[in-house]
Amino acid sequence: MVESSEQAITADPQVIAGLDHWRSLEAHQQPPWPDRDHAASVSAELAEVPPLVFAGEVDMLRERLARAARGDAFLLQGGDCAETFAGATAEAIRNRVKTILQMAVVLTYGASMPVIKMGRMAGQFAKPRSSDHETRDGVTLPAYRGDIVNGFDFTEESRTPDPSRMLQGYHTAASTLNLIRAFTQGGFADLRMVHSWNRGFAENPANARYEGLAKEIDRAIRFMEAAGADFEELKRVEFYASHEGLLMDYERPLTRIDSRTGLPYVTSGHFLWVGERTRQLDGAHIDFFSRVRNPIGVKLGPTTDVSAMKALIEKLDPEREPGRLTFITRMGADKIRDALPPLLEATKELEVQPLWVSDPMHGNGLTTQTGYKTRRFDDVVTEVTGFFEAHRSVGTHPGGIHVELTGDDVTECLGGSQKIDELGLETRYESLCDPRLNHQQSLELAFLVAEELGRR
Ligand code: PEP
Ligand code: MN
Repeated sequence: MVESSEQAITADPQVIAGLDHWRSLEAHQQPPWPDRDHAASVSAELAEVPPLVFAGEVDMLRERLARAARGDAFLLQGGDCAETFAGATAEAIRNRVKTILQMAVVLTYGASMPVIKMGRMAGQFAKPRSSDHETRDGVTLPAYRGDIVNGFDFTEESRTPDPSRMLQGYHTAASTLNLIRAFTQGGFADLRMVHSWNRGFAENPANARYEGLAKEIDRAIRFMEAAGADFEELKRVEFYASHEGLLMDYERPLTRIDSRTGLPYVTSGHFLWVGERTRQLDGAHIDFFSRVRNPIGVKLGPTTDVSAMKALIEKLDPEREPGRLTFITRMGADKIRDALPPLLEATKELEVQPLWVSDPMHGNGLTTQTGYKTRRFDDVVTEVTGFFEAHRSVGTHPGGIHVELTGDDVTECLGGSQKIDELGLETRYESLCDPRLNHQQSLELAFLVAEELGRR
């Protein structure tokens, strides 16, 4: 009998059993659901819903990231610190996608390389917190852990973790991803249009410094046009979705066996990263994410030592598979130049090639006297340039940037060409979590990084 080429490959029972090994380990930063049975029934429901991404796309992304790790592409990963359900509007999603596309054009030109576009979008709903509780005016309630767990309003009812929010998270991620796919496949990403938005940015006298680069890009595009480049092809872009792999009761049920390969994929997003607070080698998160096929990121803070990094490589990428492992460094502007080179040297000695990405946001937080959590644009830039310097000195590849940004004109980070000051933060501070670069600051960062990329 002729076998159907469509026949599904079933998974090895041991592989399936391994996907639940994390349950016997310590899982940090999980919500204390008041009703465990309710959480279990929501997880059971999530195990039956359609996947949000297709395993084939995940494999393609791994291949793209492998190029970036080799120094032949650059990753741009950006979006909110914490997406909210109410914030998943057409306008906010459009502005964020638009900002990422605009940054990508500038970076593509600066790097003369493909830029892999990835949102911290369509699933960035769960947050680790430094404290389990928050106290205001003598009242103590559970900390806000992201919309997928509880509400931000400071009331007992809103702050009580509610498992049904995981279903709302899934549906909000689905509608966000649907619109992202529509924008990036339906004509909105047209290179010439994206560049015309950038021209608007560079024509602002405050951004005069970037006019030269914008003009060069202009000429390059006109040259392409004259030479007969197929701009129809340049109307569509690949765009990937990523979020922190944190909430196990959400990620585990959305993990599915791919019928083409019989292997497990997390289908809540293409790329998942493990945060600085949950990357314990013997913890639940690292164990779980070591067993799935998605490309995996790990945040590395300034205290990371070489042996911890090596152990993460052994656990997450024992086969040394190109594109499998990304290290997202978040050292702090004043530490990166000392903390990063020894890690880079060690990977060189080990002959492993993870993708190195700079998160210039999380090591540079500060709180103003007026109580705003913020970051200085200049510190962000100093960390990124330190990241490039470290790679240049060791001879490894600076493979991408990971930034918290929004497409809106918020005032959450200090400085940039708009010169937002402490008083200015009050004008439009909207983040429920960490401060984000606004539209202008994001573009400015892209121009500065493009200059760095051009220097390599
Ligand atoms: C984040 O990316 O929002 C975050 C919490 O980062 P980190 O794990 O690096 O602290
Ligand atoms: Mn954050």
